[in-house]
Amino acid sequence: MTDLPTPKPGILDIAPYVGGKSKIDGVAEPMKLSSNENALGAGQKAREAFQAAVSNIHIYPDGRATKLRDAVADHHGLEPERLIFGNGSDEVFALLNQTYLTPGDNIVTGQYGFLAYRISALANQAEVRLAPEPNFRTEVDALLALVDERTKLVYISSPSNPTGSYNTAEETRRLHEALPAHVLLVIDEAYAEFVAEPDWETSLPLARDAENIVVTRTFSKIHGLGGLRIGFGYAPLKVAEAVDRIRLPFNVSVPGLEAAVAALGDEAHQKASRDLVQTWRPRLTQAIKGFGFEVFPSAGNFVLVRFPDEKRNAAAANEYLHTRGIIVRPVGGYGLHDCLRITVGTEDQNRAVLDALSEFAAS
Ligand code: PMP
Repeated sequence: MTDLPTPKPGILDIAPYVGGKSKIDGVAEPMKLSSNENALGAGQKAREAFQAAVSNIHIYPDGRATKLRDAVADHHGLEPERLIFGNGSDEVFALLNQTYLTPGDNIVTGQYGFLAYRISALANQAEVRLAPEPNFRTEVDALLALVDERTKLVYISSPSNPTGSYNTAEETRRLHEALPAHVLLVIDEAYAEFVAEPDWETSLPLARDAENIVVTRTFSKIHGLGGLRIGFGYAPLKVAEAVDRIRLPFNVSVPGLEAAVAALGDEAHQKASRDLVQTWRPRLTQAIKGFGFEVFPSAGNFVLVRFPDEKRNAAAANEYLHTRGIIVRPVGGYGLHDCLRITVGTEDQNRAVLDALSEFAAS
């Protein structure tokens, strides 16, 4: 007999989040295109700031993240006190869920909505309602149809992972207008900087004047700081103040804070990162379609490829890419068993992906 407490109801039903694979047996340096990281890595300014911060890693960080707070507020023209910083934007979602969800409440998101929204909602004994995405994009009416008086949060990501689709500025405004005021609308803009489509807009200005919108951003993608774990949310003041009460005292690290401030000021690196993605995303899309596979339009730094063929299926393509030293992301966790998500890499990496997929198509 054990006297261990039992985990709360539902905890043991949660499938743990599994990050992108980073190793292939027998391959010394695989190409990791499985986690939508920045193929150029971190910029020089962020690296230098990280190095310089090493002399201070025995000191606790500033829990208020004052320097980064002011830098982000200044960069985006936002009020500093309305920002929430987290150990990645993942933590911002978890903090929001923890702040607002009680057992029996629900969150609403798209069928292929990012898994991180759901895990902490389930941990707070809330119900997760998934709106169908038959066209691989989040539909406003499908979300609204699931909202009721126990809905506390609606999550959309625009652009979305893993589908790569986005919601137009008009759709996002319509969703906000139609939502009851008791629902907090969380708009995850992790991939904002890669968007080229003119009908997309950042929702930061929309959030500025709204009482129930949180927009989240991350330093993991455009800034190449995924390993340092920094993200933020721009929230109504009341929300930011509520979340701040339960935030872990020092949730963002000393080197993370310093590197993020430097990265924000490194416009050349941001531009190079955006240009790489905007150049190669259409090339990858066109070429992979040419091999006979389906590629969904993407606004992020990745493409979602469907392998409808029974023989040349997603699992076989994944294995084939491994033999070429390339790691991409199976997305069965989202129910997309016939798809692989491929991060846009460097020119050499992208060429290697195309060579491998062309050989696979002909195999
Ligand atoms: N939102 C989306 C849609 C993502 O794909 C990711 C990262 N995979 C995140 C948020 C989380 O980013 P972070 O590294 O800031 O936790």
